[in-house]
Amino acid sequence: MLRQYELVERVKSYDPDADEALLNRAYVYTVQKHGSQMRASGDPYFSHPVEVAGLMTDLKLDQETIITALLHDTVEDTLATIDDVRANFGDEVARLVDGVTKLSKIEQMPENERAAENLRKFLLAMSEDLRVLLVKLADRLHNMRTLHHIKKPEKRRRIARETMDIYAPLAERVGMYEYMREMQLLAFEQLEPEAYTTITKRLEQLRQTDKGEVDRIALDIKQALSEAGLEVEVWGREKHPYSIWKKMAERHLPFEQVSDIMAFRVLTDNVEDCYRALGILHTAFQFVPGRFKDYISTPKNNGYRSLHTTLFYDQSMRVEVQIRTREMNQTNEFGLAAHWAYKQQDKADGAVGWLRDLIEIVDSSHDAEELLEHTKLAIYQDRIFAFTPKGALFQLPKGATPVDFAFAVHTDLGAQTVGAKINGRHMPLRTQLGNGDVVEIIKSKNAEPQLSWLGFVVTGKARAAIRRAVRLKERDEVAEIGRKLFEEIADRLPAKVGKKAIRQAAETLELEDAEDLMYAIGASKISDRDVMEAIVPGSTKDMPEEPQLDRAISIKGLTPGVGFDLAECCHPVPGDRIVGLRRPKKGVEVHAIDCLELASGVDADWIDLSWGERSHGAVGRLTVVLYNRPGTLAEMAGVFARSNANVMHLELTQRDDPFHTYELDIEVQDLAHLTRILSALRASDSVAQADRI
Ligand code: MN
Repeated sequence: MLRQYELVERVKSYDPDADEALLNRAYVYTVQKHGSQMRASGDPYFSHPVEVAGLMTDLKLDQETIITALLHDTVEDTLATIDDVRANFGDEVARLVDGVTKLSKIEQMPENERAAENLRKFLLAMSEDLRVLLVKLADRLHNMRTLHHIKKPEKRRRIARETMDIYAPLAERVGMYEYMREMQLLAFEQLEPEAYTTITKRLEQLRQTDKGEVDRIALDIKQALSEAGLEVEVWGREKHPYSIWKKMAERHLPFEQVSDIMAFRVLTDNVEDCYRALGILHTAFQFVPGRFKDYISTPKNNGYRSLHTTLFYDQSMRVEVQIRTREMNQTNEFGLAAHWAYKQQDKADGAVGWLRDLIEIVDSSHDAEELLEHTKLAIYQDRIFAFTPKGALFQLPKGATPVDFAFAVHTDLGAQTVGAKINGRHMPLRTQLGNGDVVEIIKSKNAEPQLSWLGFVVTGKARAAIRRAVRLKERDEVAEIGRKLFEEIADRLPAKVGKKAIRQAAETLELEDAEDLMYAIGASKISDRDVMEAIVPGSTKDMPEEPQLDRAISIKGLTPGVGFDLAECCHPVPGDRIVGLRRPKKGVEVHAIDCLELASGVDADWIDLSWGERSHGAVGRLTVVLYNRPGTLAEMAGVFARSNANVMHLELTQRDDPFHTYELDIEVQDLAHLTRILSALRASDSVAQADRI
């Protein structure tokens, strides 16, 4: 384990301005907080954060990152709090430690919820600061290095699988190939122990028989370049067992036939020499067609730059050669981290933010937009990730609320939502969720989705479910009106009407059931006469045509034979003062004199009109605000029934907690009739407000 002074010296070696006292304090803090906790290896627990900090010094990262690495498990595993960390080490360290702590939630999630793809996205989305991700990757790398101390094989395999599926690809994503390779190798050893042992053994045998072959080939390559006047550094290595195994698996090859098990690297001083070296090697050796790749002119998304080619060293052996500058090599192995450390080193001002560095990298790259998209970790910035209290992870669009979350978990949960706790605190349902929030939905069996939720939900699933529920509810309410109206209809029939008769009537009218019949009556989809005839055929034979439903409108002031329409905007009824508008090639529109639509008629001919004698029967439009409690709707329906007014159309336009607002079209005799109805409505306990529109 690194000693305290060794760690501080390492940081000082690349950052002479580092705050020695603060680093010392962080070292002591983690030692004290972890106290006597132990690792599976039997080492004191604090050896782990210290080693992770050591890994971060290899990348020459700034002191905030080093301190974060030292403290990365204190909030998760000891009594330390974020506030405590902030008080001791400042805002920036607190923010970074908080970030790493949130990432650690992953490890506690139930296994079935941990879809690898989801988790990778989550980690990226959470890592708003790349340093958070770097500490997490180093944390995982050190845990992998010490994995063999864990006794239970299943646990070792689980951690190895997670490393292979999640952390190694993430390391690749940010260009940390060195970390990626080591993680893969250590995970491979656990996941495919037999293959690992076999391949390792074969490589060992090969080394025995071809002693020094790697070095010999490297020398040949160096010599070929040197003869052409190019002095460069060449070094070779065996590929590691995992990449050999991958090649065997992908191409279904036995070990003997995996020909390019050696890889060589040519390091030059500048880009020009890279291409010169390539030309020389392609002349000196035969190259394998189709294997040449130019990642210098077109870098990979994570910033990787190099030339790749494969040469026939002799007839039976192919070797892979990577050509790059020394600077590229440094960047390639440690990706953006190296770039970042490199920039920090010669920083002119002390406060160069990570983001600004990133923008510089992006500016200097070829496909700036694409690189930005991938490196800024911005890919998932339009998504947020939230947890259930049990740790299940849900991906939602940005702006999602607890209601969206509830519907994402289950439609029934969404429907029963009455409240929410976010990170343990009661919060309004319209609160926008943040990344990593833990959302607990408070539900009630009798709750229903609220129309007002449509004002803030963002997911299609929630929206559709709320609409569906509200429609069903409205249907119930209309059916309730229908039942009230039906009582009046039944009274007019000669005999008492039983349930069976109602069911049969529904069938006769080609409706589903009694409920459907009540809905049809409430929504005025069928006339009273039709209902009566369906129950007792012939019962309306002697009934006079209902005069109040019969329209007899005549208008004075029109040329005889000219057609007219009562305007739909103001719904004038006999008794209202009216005016006519004649537009070109159209009939006359009859408006109430105070209708706002008249303003649109400046170009039309205005005609002074009045109602003909004995005009009656027109449709008036009302808004009625009812108290939201049982029975109020039936009470309103009763008012209409008692006043002989026919409800033509009913719509719930607004649903708030204490009030429901309806818009209705009712058929009335005339203005006096409508005024009586309004008075009756206003007199009712159920009605908060009633007006013509
Ligand atoms: Mn850790």
